[in-house]
Amino acid sequence: MPDFAYAPAPETVPVEISPRNGLFIGGQFVAPKSSKYRVTTNPATEQPLAEVAEANAKDVDLAVASARKALKPWAKMKASERAKILFRIARRIQERARELAVLETLDSGKPIKESRDDDVPLVAHHFFHHAGWCDKLAYAFPGATLEPVGVCGQVIPWNFPLLMAAWKIAPALACGNTVVLKPAETTPLTALRLAEIFAECELPPGVVNIITGGPDAGKALVAHGGLDKVAFTGSTEVGKAIAATLAGTGRKLTLELGGKSPHIIFADAAIDQAIEGVVSGIWFNQGEVCCAGSRLFVEERILGTFIERLKSRMQTLRVGDPMDKNTDVGAINSKEQLERIQHYINLGASEGATRFECSTPLPSKGYFCRPCLFTDVQPSHTIAREEIFGPVLSVMSFRTPEEAIQRANNTNYGLSAGVWTEKGAKALEMASRLKAGVVWLNTFNRFDPSAPFGGYRESGFGREGGRQGLRAYLKVDGR
Ligand code: NAD
Repeated sequence: MPDFAYAPAPETVPVEISPRNGLFIGGQFVAPKSSKYRVTTNPATEQPLAEVAEANAKDVDLAVASARKALKPWAKMKASERAKILFRIARRIQERARELAVLETLDSGKPIKESRDDDVPLVAHHFFHHAGWCDKLAYAFPGATLEPVGVCGQVIPWNFPLLMAAWKIAPALACGNTVVLKPAETTPLTALRLAEIFAECELPPGVVNIITGGPDAGKALVAHGGLDKVAFTGSTEVGKAIAATLAGTGRKLTLELGGKSPHIIFADAAIDQAIEGVVSGIWFNQGEVCCAGSRLFVEERILGTFIERLKSRMQTLRVGDPMDKNTDVGAINSKEQLERIQHYINLGASEGATRFECSTPLPSKGYFCRPCLFTDVQPSHTIAREEIFGPVLSVMSFRTPEEAIQRANNTNYGLSAGVWTEKGAKALEMASRLKAGVVWLNTFNRFDPSAPFGGYRESGFGREGGRQGLRAYLKVDGR
């Protein structure tokens, strides 16, 4: 019988982090032309983890030139050969999964059980899924002439660093494009580890280039004339600026932006499951989730009991060391984000809503925030309208399905929605009338590479995942 005592728990896997990290250009790690580095820290301890290169416009030039040079051979490679490389990458991600999960948690503050059980498996799944598409694209778009779009500039946020990299890179490569990706400045380490995996798996040099840096590096990348497409995930504010930069250039653009998603609970729902859905909807990943169910609408006749049960469930949430596998809510990603969340919490109270927060103790160091909910919320309150991107839930009520739909759709966003009811006809009616890219029925925060994800209105445009996600990385009949 194997000796399980020696099987290391994921949080004890030692991960080597090189003290100084360059840019990944042309298949190699190189020093930045800027000669500048930025420190990335562990938000749970406030300790520095490593120095990471800060790309400037010259570095962006080199990365885009490298992607351009790699484009033709990659696009012309036999599709089944491209598939083999993507399958190899997917398998290597699985082999290095524990290391990736630990690194993700150290750099982002998310609980290890989420990086280990949710994020990293999904990252591998994205590469497997898209590897399978490489030689089957003609079946996705029957009768059409297909070509890759070309060189893609991709900019991603810090909440799901590795997963967002996979969402962007895997479909781009499957369709024969090459990439320059910029991770967020607070969470660059796992994208650089992914670069190592690309090199190990003999992805041809230049097919993926990873440049690190802050908003200036992002601005230089999206404005670069050598790109054929830009894909951005991040805030609505930056997404609007990027749309303005690209207007009139003829370059393709997809935007995955913010949200203020409604989560609707009918009185006939399976209440125990709905409570768990709400917990996952707003406290998964500290609420730093673009599609978080941050506006909860509960049918009025069960409001009192539902909230009491939700509060007692909140009291069981463990907030603290993200490396502890029992932790439910880890550290907020940065001091700035913690301050932003606290600003909204103060605003909620000053605008007249009633706050309840779980009473768990917080670590003395690190950027932590107790999960909280607000009742007595009016639709006009700031906490009911603006994206907080933290563990803060705004609770409202409704009497009829019609009222639920009107209140849920009363937002500038349209990313996701959740509905809990045992009545199939009601669920389908709600799904067809909610203005959201994804509507979850009797579940929340479920992701699969075969299902398209994306928004309406200020949540952006374009889809990632599924056949629709491939469309964004292909010219179909020349368009
Ligand atoms: P952000 O917009 O500040 O930053 C996102 C990325 O853009 C970072 O890499 C950043 O360096 C870069 N950047 C910043 N300014 C830029 C500019 N002017 N030009 C080009 N790049 C620039 O967002 P954030 O704080 O990192 O992430 C949180 C936001 O992302 C939230 O609003 C959230 O809803 C959204 N988000 C959306 C999705 C989705 O799929 N719709 C997924 C995750 C996060």
